[in-house]
Amino acid sequence: MPGLYIVATPIGNLGDISARAAALLARADVIAAEDTRVTAKLLSHLGLRVPMTPYHDHSDERVRAALVERMASEVVVLVSDAGTPLISDPGYKLVRDARAAGRHVTTLPGPCAAIAAITLSGLPSDRFVFAGFLPSKAKARADTIAEFSGLRASLVFYESGPRLSASLAALAQGLGDREAAVAREISKFYEECVTGTLTELAARYADTPPKGEIVIVVGPPGEAAAEEADDATLDAALREAMADKPVAQAAKAVAKRFGLDRHEIYARALTLKDAG
Ligand code: SAM
Repeated sequence: MPGLYIVATPIGNLGDISARAAALLARADVIAAEDTRVTAKLLSHLGLRVPMTPYHDHSDERVRAALVERMASEVVVLVSDAGTPLISDPGYKLVRDARAAGRHVTTLPGPCAAIAAITLSGLPSDRFVFAGFLPSKAKARADTIAEFSGLRASLVFYESGPRLSASLAALAQGLGDREAAVAREISKFYEECVTGTLTELAARYADTPPKGEIVIVVGPPGEAAAEEADDATLDAALREAMADKPVAQAAKAVAKRFGLDRHEIYARALTLKDAG
């Protein structure tokens, strides 16, 4: 059937391509690829020769329009360099426009580093938030982390080796010293998953940035915090902290201790202070 087929490809081990994905690639009329040189290696592994065209969400509008046009009568396959297209990868605008044009859109699910990492981490997987890449500038990174700090969920971040230690330290600062995991080179020869608190992991990687591809998984605020952080406990902790610290610093320390949102705790500290 003509249309758009979103096809997940391996994130390391080429053996992870599904039989259905391989069969579809073999009969595609065109493959819209993030980088045709990368996809050429996969096609060569599968013994296939299929026409490809480069596709990015910031490609010229006309490239996208031409692909959407072709979907009316041809099988157009979307792939990214590795894993599931659209997940920190191009494709969202192509899917949006294909839907708007009434084309048949379907997906062939498969490898995704975020999902693989949460399964490896041993951290709660019943509720998690995929947070993509953190910004590299310190202020923007801290602001982004603050947006996630109140969530009772595991958090999943994509990361690179050189930025890993700084990101782990910023996460410890903004979220409290939670349990975390660093999953590296998933499905490849040097696959590993190192667990510890954010501070322990930041120290471990400070002098030796690891090579390869990395996912950070951060656990939710601890159960102990959830149980102990009733109103009376929080207020007592805030009063104690405010005795020898300015309000903002006291709120930050208490938020970190209980794994709570520092803006909410700051507002609570101000109320307490006003009440005397
Ligand atoms: N679309 C891909 C997916 O489904 O996972 C992700 C693309 S994103 C541009 C690339 C990032 O994914 C890397 O920087 C790394 O954080 C993560 N990643 C990809 N492959 C990985 C692997 N084998 N092991 C660990 N992380 C990986």
